[in-house]
Amino acid sequence: AQSHGHGQVHIFMPKKARFVFDELTLYNEMHLALENNEFELYYQPIMNANTQEIVSAEALIRWIHPVHGLIPPDAFIPIMEKTGFIIEVGKYILNEVLKQQKRWEMFRFKQIPVSINVSMIEVETGNFFNHVEKKLAETHVDPELITFEVTEGKAMESEKSTLNEFHKLHKLGVKISLDDFGTGYTSFSYIKKFPADVLKIDRSFMEHILVKKEDQRIVQGIIELAHNLEMKVVVEGIENLQVVELMASYGCDYLQGYYFSKPLPSFEFQKFLR
Ligand code: C2E
Ligand code: CA
Ligand code: CA
Ligand code: CA
Repeated sequence: AQSHGHGQVHIFMPKKARFVFDELTLYNEMHLALENNEFELYYQPIMNANTQEIVSAEALIRWIHPVHGLIPPDAFIPIMEKTGFIIEVGKYILNEVLKQQKRWEMFRFKQIPVSINVSMIEVETGNFFNHVEKKLAETHVDPELITFEVTEGKAMESEKSTLNEFHKLHKLGVKISLDDFGTGYTSFSYIKKFPADVLKIDRSFMEHILVKKEDQRIVQGIIELAHNLEMKVVVEGIENLQVVELMASYGCDYLQGYYFSKPLPSFEFQKFLR
């Protein structure tokens, strides 16, 4: 079998084993990658559903690997979460976004809020609130220009102390967004306790929204619930004009998706801010 070369060997390896190998490679390389500045933030515009003007952006991390090229976050974020390295990377991401805000201010671009994805373990383990407060004070970036997105399912499992971190952040003036909403099991009593300003409907609902009446009713229900709780609604995964129009007719506030733009390197994204 060896004479058949590298590619052949893989055929006989169970899928899982290959994945473990990849994970280990990424794990071994990620620390140096941070030092070597191989991580880059891409920005995806979020639009006003009625005017279709840009209102904010989501920062999404990419690993620009010198050999493998662009590695998507789903390949390495889970490893970073498991190992706790996400805490360090999270600090890097916040720094980058704050620097970006300063640059936009300096060059007189339109300044818009940027959403940062945070993993629950950053909030549970680190001194998340203290760190954010310190960084905002150091850089003089308006807290209103920062939104933290946290996945619904994970947020709802949080302990009292973690919930308290979110309340402190909220009082500081940063915005909190419940990401991937509709994929977890949020109870109505819990969502009232969680200081969210924004609810992001998971993009899985958009896949068949034009034909699935059930998904249409669920999405309308979520929008109504969010508005009753004085939250804004973002729908992500918008890929065509019919869905734009349907979501606007539902009274959804903001839209995000490939129809408007893929996530872009900051240099290209800035065209949206002119
Ligand atoms: P997410 O927070 O739900 O991010 C939205 C994902 O949907 C992004 O994938 C984005 O590129 C993709 N997307 C946006 N519009 C469309 C669309 O119209 N159609 C389709 N099919 N997809 C669309 P991405 O960038 O690969 O990120 C995947 C996940 O990785 C994110 O899901 C988030 O959970 C995590 N992630 C990304 N960046 C960070 C980060 O800086 N920190 C942490 N902790 N997690 C991150
Ligand atoms: Ca997100
Ligand atoms: Ca999401
Ligand atoms: Ca997601």
